[in-house]
Amino acid sequence: MRDNEVFKSVEKELNRQRNNIELIASENFVSEEILELAGSVLTNKYAEGYPGKRYYGGCQFVDEVETLAINRLKELFGCEYANVQPHSGAQANTAVYLALLDHGDKVLGMSLADGGHLTHGHPLNYSGINYEFYSYGVSRDTETIDYEDYKHKVETIRPKLVVAGASAYSRIIDFKYMAQIAHDNGALFMVDMAHIAGLVAAGLHPSPFPYADVVTTTTHKTLRGPRGGVIMCKEELGKDIDRAVFPGMQGGPLMHIIAAKAACFYEALQPEFKDYAKQIIKNAKALEQSLKEEGFRLVADGTDNHLILIDVKASCGISGKKAERLLDEINITANKNAIPFDTEKPFKASGIRVGTPAMTTKGFNEDDFREVGKIIAYRLKNDETDEVKEACLKRVKALTDKVRMYQGKSYL
Ligand code: PLP
Repeated sequence: MRDNEVFKSVEKELNRQRNNIELIASENFVSEEILELAGSVLTNKYAEGYPGKRYYGGCQFVDEVETLAINRLKELFGCEYANVQPHSGAQANTAVYLALLDHGDKVLGMSLADGGHLTHGHPLNYSGINYEFYSYGVSRDTETIDYEDYKHKVETIRPKLVVAGASAYSRIIDFKYMAQIAHDNGALFMVDMAHIAGLVAAGLHPSPFPYADVVTTTTHKTLRGPRGGVIMCKEELGKDIDRAVFPGMQGGPLMHIIAAKAACFYEALQPEFKDYAKQIIKNAKALEQSLKEEGFRLVADGTDNHLILIDVKASCGISGKKAERLLDEINITANKNAIPFDTEKPFKASGIRVGTPAMTTKGFNEDDFREVGKIIAYRLKNDETDEVKEACLKRVKALTDKVRMYQGKSYL
């Protein structure tokens, strides 16, 4: 008996992914091979433990898969030790905290309001609930990380761990400097490179290796893999990290996702991936230029990476929430996002976050992204009329018709 209800909804989502301009900076489109592996029979297999040391029989083939994933990840980033089992980025971070910290220890992470992530100490997250988190952020004038303030905080708070990395930060992060300050003050240094992992893999953002003691990432953003997380660390921390993931935090690993992660690392090791990552940044610069020409105020005055934070309140007098809806109605998907020193509540926000990884995968180039910038401006700067909406929908269709993907098969 087929569950038609859920298949219908998935089919509608497939069509949305085919037809929309996807600008959510944390999303991407995986290859057909990765999709196939994520939907493979490995979903049936229990494999608690690690390759060669499992608590279940019949693990010889999933052992091969997990070993491939680990070795490829180590090769991709040049790291000493890797754990590919975390189900998500949040769980990867939580496992690191479990491995390195005791309840109540002091930690310093980037403020969510300035671009950090929930798992970097938000009071409602496991991190903020279980540890004494402090935060650093960006300066008011440049809207880039205030490294002086960061140094002062490390020196005065004396945290056991410093967390670097962000979810909504468009400029290069100086991992080398941050690690040096952390280590000079007796702290461990962790980098959550979830957003920029693909750019790091391609050598287009300074790598956190070898400065960081531990590095986490999601696999589904710029790295263009399946939804999941991984942890990389120095050899001497490997045993503690493994123990924190299993049995500390998780039971059986998702072997179908680990197979898809192995394929993701394989793809990222190919020379074409570097071209893809370069194009992500070229496209972000083209979008930046187009938005600036349209008079938009961009947080930190633009981007060095794959994302841009647009201050829509200052630029068009509307909230991020309204901008998100207006764009959604013309088949452009983006998300509202707080900007530094935002005067709006997070659910309304003054900004929207836009990113280029997903549409770069579909084949958009700089000209396409310049046109995207113009469509965004036309929609957000005009009154909400049917005429404006219809004109935008037409222009969006002209762009998306050029770059079809997931065609031919059902992909359900
Ligand atoms: N860390 C950073 C920097 C992120 O941006 C995100 C997700 O957006 C995560 C961790 C959490 O990843 P997940 O949603 O897989 O738990």
